[in-house]
Amino acid sequence: MNVSQHLNDGFLREVSAKFPSDFLTQDPHELETYGKDWTKVYAPKPSAVVFPRTTEEVSRFLKLCFQNDIAVVPSGGRTGLAGGAVAAKGEVVLSLTRMNRMGPVDPMSQIVRVQAGAVTEAVHRHCEPHGLTWPVDFASKGSSHIGGNISTNAGGVKVIHYGMTRNWVLGLQVVTMQGDILELNGALEKNNTGVDLRQLFIGSEGTLGIVTEATLKLARLPEHLDVFFFAVKEFKDVLTLFLEARKGPFTLQAYECLLHNCLEAVVWNLGVKSPFNDKHGAYVLMEVERPTTPEAQGRLDEWLGSLFERGLIQDGTLAQSPREAKELWMLREAVAESLTRKAFLHKNDIALPVAELNTFLDAMMNVFATKYPGLDVYVFGHIGDGNLHVNTLKPEGMDREEFLTRAHAADEDLFELVRSHQGSVSAEHGIGLLKKDALKYSRTPEELSIFKAMKRALDPKNLLNPGKVFDLT
Ligand SMILES: Cc1cc2nc3c(=O)[nH]c(=O)nc-3n(C[C@H](O)[C@H](O)[C@H](O)COP(=O)(O)OP(=O)(O)OC[C@H]3O[C@@H](n4cnc5c(N)ncnc54)[C@H](O)[C@@H]3O)c2cc1C
Repeated sequence: MNVSQHLNDGFLREVSAKFPSDFLTQDPHELETYGKDWTKVYAPKPSAVVFPRTTEEVSRFLKLCFQNDIAVVPSGGRTGLAGGAVAAKGEVVLSLTRMNRMGPVDPMSQIVRVQAGAVTEAVHRHCEPHGLTWPVDFASKGSSHIGGNISTNAGGVKVIHYGMTRNWVLGLQVVTMQGDILELNGALEKNNTGVDLRQLFIGSEGTLGIVTEATLKLARLPEHLDVFFFAVKEFKDVLTLFLEARKGPFTLQAYECLLHNCLEAVVWNLGVKSPFNDKHGAYVLMEVERPTTPEAQGRLDEWLGSLFERGLIQDGTLAQSPREAKELWMLREAVAESLTRKAFLHKNDIALPVAELNTFLDAMMNVFATKYPGLDVYVFGHIGDGNLHVNTLKPEGMDREEFLTRAHAADEDLFELVRSHQGSVSAEHGIGLLKKDALKYSRTPEELSIFKAMKRALDPKNLLNPGKVFDLT
């Protein structure tokens, strides 16, 4: 791998002559902060961090790095869960933090152009007064950047209704490692003039170019949302209820699930009360949009009544105010953080065809119970999209190394099972460093050779986020 461990004096002199005085830092605290992401499993070791303010600065800096064979890691909000923004080998981190300007919302075209460092939630707030939103939404939205969302093709809690980030990016401005600035697709909805290059950069985790600006498509803000939290007997009922919800008198906006031990972890971590007195096998958070007419209310009551009568829903609660809706959402959104606080853990983020979920989960639980007894398994996720987050927690008293050895051995079985159900080893978090070994379970050698050909074409010296997603050998 072509990674520079040290920056020479000549390079540093050139940077200080050609860029603002606060452009580059080698402050140890900043190196530590900007050299890692949320995974926190890799020791950060960048040689510097740079903070451009404009696309032109990004372009000039990448040209300089290309001439000097210096590796660069693009960095957004550093909430990534695959190690994609980690700089552990002396690379220079290029942080988009200062590039956070947002242009005016265009209500006629329903678009907004923003710099890549704009924070996801800030974009939501910016669009709200126009009755519009960028419908990519998840728990880390208060820190993640638009550029990071685009580079990971982020999913989240609204995919069931809106789809992934890819669907909401109209145009991209990208800088290649050689400093070329590409304007891809402008603000066009229709443009059949050959290969849509914009799509190459969406989801490529900063390995092909640095996203500097994006024209985002916006959706109408939903008018009236109901948030429910349901308790069901077991996981298969989550799927039966999902089928009913698909036919329900409303538009589904989110359909999320957590198994009983995940709710227990949240209740413990947040110090809140469970919405239910009894324990149940699984829980569903469902958000729907519907008209507020008495007729629509009647149809909803009828739908709910029949499911309670059939015993499919064992218990349930409906938020009566925006505050209560937020509290119910918190029970789902705090799962990841609560598990992290509970014990050292190993994460997986897999996708299956929705119809396969029940047989898959049974088979997976059986593998853990028979081959890996003692590993506690916690499952939650975006069930409506077939996306399961599978976490194993280190049991008390087990040595960390032993736990990791067992968890990695379990991964091999898990990924084989995923492959046999035509699933994906990374539903939304990406591959980064963490899931590189797993990539072969979801992508064929032929696909990987196309990945490598694209990388060589766009980054011939392998300097941009080298060693992420795959090795170029
Ligand atoms: C509590 C929690 C919940 C989460 N929930 C979800 C969820 O529901 N769905 C989901 O999809 N993800 C989720 N994530 C993961 C993460 O938030 C997303 O992957 C997010 O899109 C990452 O954005 P970021 O700006 O933090 O990117 P970073 O972590 O900074 O970077 C991610 C990758 O993108 C590259 N990159 C960043 N900016 C650029 C740029 N401008 N140009 C080129 N490459 C760039 C980096 O090099 C890296 O490879 C969650 C994370 C946490 C901590």
